Amino acid sequence: PCTAQDVIAALRAGAETVTEHRDELIRLDRAIGDADHGENMDRGFRAVVAQLDSASPRTPSAVLKLAATTLISSVGGASGPLYGTAFLRAASAAGDVTELDGRAVADALRAGMEGVTARGKAVTGDKTMIDALAPAVEAAKASADSDATAATVLAVAADAARTGAEATEPMVARKGRASYLGERSAGHLDPGARSTALLLAAFADTVR
Ligand code: ADP
Ligand code: MG
Ligand code: MG
Repeated sequence: PCTAQDVIAALRAGAETVTEHRDELIRLDRAIGDADHGENMDRGFRAVVAQLDSASPRTPSAVLKLAATTLISSVGGASGPLYGTAFLRAASAAGDVTELDGRAVADALRAGMEGVTARGKAVTGDKTMIDALAPAVEAAKASADSDATAATVLAVAADAARTGAEATEPMVARKGRASYLGERSAGHLDPGARSTALLLAAFADTVR
């Protein structure tokens, strides 16, 4: 099961990963965007860690909600409101239980993706974070359907997100800044898909 403490540890690990990969995310966004995705994510997740240092939310939902509001208020650009909405919807889906099982983790992931879709209107193949999230949600559901633990659900979701992010390389962007490049957006990974895969990998490594 995944407690509030686990979610806090997962977000701290996510922040570390984002800091470690800051330059890579900047490089990816320089190729097809405005070179700020690494900076945006690093600023946002540093702010989340600062909030977690001063508050002690008691349920998984409360932790996710704190992350959501912090990301929305500290990250400019497309990714802040999108990730913020994802965490906000995941928080609602988590309800007021103190532990999330595999099913609850899969449901929270799905709710998060639906938040991104509601806000950004991207579908699979548009070369966005949805291309990492959608396969992660599907893999998580299949895993939860066979009664996997929260840790296993996250692990299979992270694997699927990695593959999904890698598959964005040849895609032509149809949403966000990269879409302004048209065909020239092909040949590069989508930065948001990469950051989604990195975050899920960090969450999966933390929740055991
Ligand atoms: P900005 O594009 O405003 O500079 P970022 O660089 O932080 O913001 O984030 C860019 C990422 O946001 C893209 O790589 C993509 O994954 C994601 N993104 C942009 N628009 C959308 C959208 N409409 N739906 C889903 N994801 C999107
Ligand atoms: Mg950018
Ligand atoms: Mg920007």
